[in-house]
Amino acid sequence: MNNMDKAILSAFPLVAVPTAEPLQEYAEHGVRFLVGKTGVMREVSLPWLQIVHPVASLDGGLQLPYGELEASVRVRCSRVPADLIRQFTADARAALPNEVAAALIWNSKTNQWRYQVRKSVVANAVYVQFEEVRMADSEHLVVDFHSHGEHRAFFSEVDDQDDHGSMKFSAVLGNLDHATPSSAIRLCMAGLYMPAAIKADGSLEVTL
Ligand SMILES: [Zn+2]
Repeated sequence: MNNMDKAILSAFPLVAVPTAEPLQEYAEHGVRFLVGKTGVMREVSLPWLQIVHPVASLDGGLQLPYGELEASVRVRCSRVPADLIRQFTADARAALPNEVAAALIWNSKTNQWRYQVRKSVVANAVYVQFEEVRMADSEHLVVDFHSHGEHRAFFSEVDDQDDHGSMKFSAVLGNLDHATPSSAIRLCMAGLYMPAAIKADGSLEVTL
């Protein structure tokens, strides 16, 4: 095999799901593709998340001679501390009528979270552009928050561009002039978006 294709296969291994034994766990952090009985799935393994989701499904009754595989998701990081969300809500209110952005960063060594406001380069009522946060080796940007000021929370075309290709939870708070802000959250997985939630106890949930 030529070196280019060897490198691609090494970076993104392709695995046939076994029929007679369990699939070997993906011990590394990275992306691999799994070919099963009814289609192809992508497995993404990160310090804070492990997900297996379909990328291509067979139809018309065709089945491949490999094992069965189910979609799954496991959040590996600890719960998001409530004071970080309170902090962002307060910062988003203080920034009114402008937008603001912040990073919720999880440390895989200490299992602790920290909050960092993203320094705005340009901020107004419909747009915020910011400097990227600096993180230590064991730190991961898990939840990327931004606000929509007095506008409702939703993912705009600009948000889609900002989130394109990234792997993180993306969350928006809106209607910050109201007592109860509106909110929206999704999981960004390198080109795909999945519905997500931060539950009342701070646990992160993904709907496959
Ligand atoms: Zn937005």
